[in-house]
Amino acid sequence: MPELPEVEVVRAGLAPAMTGARIVAVDVHDERALTRHAAGAADFVARLEGSAVTTVARRGKFLWMPIAAAGGDARTAVVGHLGMSGQLLLRRPDAEAERHERIRIFIEHPDHGELAVVFADQRTFGSLAVDELVPTADGRAAGWGSTEPFLPSQVAHIARDPMDDAFQSRVFRDALRTRSSAIKRVLLDQTLISGVGNIYADESLWAARIHPETPASALSTVAVNRLLAEVRAVLAKALAEGGTSFDAQYVNVNGEAGYFAHSLNAYGRTGLPCPRCGGPIVRVSFMNRSSHYCPRCQRRR
Ligand SMILES: [Zn+2]
Repeated sequence: MPELPEVEVVRAGLAPAMTGARIVAVDVHDERALTRHAAGAADFVARLEGSAVTTVARRGKFLWMPIAAAGGDARTAVVGHLGMSGQLLLRRPDAEAERHERIRIFIEHPDHGELAVVFADQRTFGSLAVDELVPTADGRAAGWGSTEPFLPSQVAHIARDPMDDAFQSRVFRDALRTRSSAIKRVLLDQTLISGVGNIYADESLWAARIHPETPASALSTVAVNRLLAEVRAVLAKALAEGGTSFDAQYVNVNGEAGYFAHSLNAYGRTGLPCPRCGGPIVRVSFMNRSSHYCPRCQRRR
């Protein structure tokens, strides 16, 4: 599943082309890509056509584009859920259909002219939807790319991500004190801290030398601060390298894969030497998935 860096790469790619653009037409090729838009394809198309995109915003792994009628304020947004394999690609309006293309949105931008935003999805767990905007709980701008304190209702339960200026480390530390579950499980809990999935949880815990199954409440303030610093450092480095892409599945709006996979220290490196101590990285099953860690550097207490 794409995590914060992979989704941010998409957001940053879409923003210049979509901010200020007008949606001219929408082709829905496959209604399975609208599973989160209960009113169906005709309603989806009617809500989009003729509206203007005010910005492209992201919180954690969620992406949205507020849309407004000409001259009006945005009260709704197009929310993009990339699911396991969803892609948002920028193409010429007359470009050939992508493999697994589900939806094509034709836009007109005052500087960039006519473009198409293609939603392609091999496994159809992703979807687009039009959703109402609701106020943020703390009254601050909703996330990266957003200057307004509004976010889609489908994203309202998602915590701010650690790259967000309005993320409150103290609230996160306080939440950890009351949780006896494994720190890795807490890192994956999108209602406490968003944007981190299996890859970046393993990488951050490795960098902070914390065993993934350490009870969250057992971590000292110093350890939690170190972990948060490593989460931010790992996400920032992955973002700078275009994200992690296995089998070129997660790509930017031009279809290009990032190369952070070459910078992984623990994730997916079962049996390979730990870059810090040389001992073998081990893999254990965890929440129907896997944890990768170094048993020497990340001692269980
Ligand atoms: Zn090690």
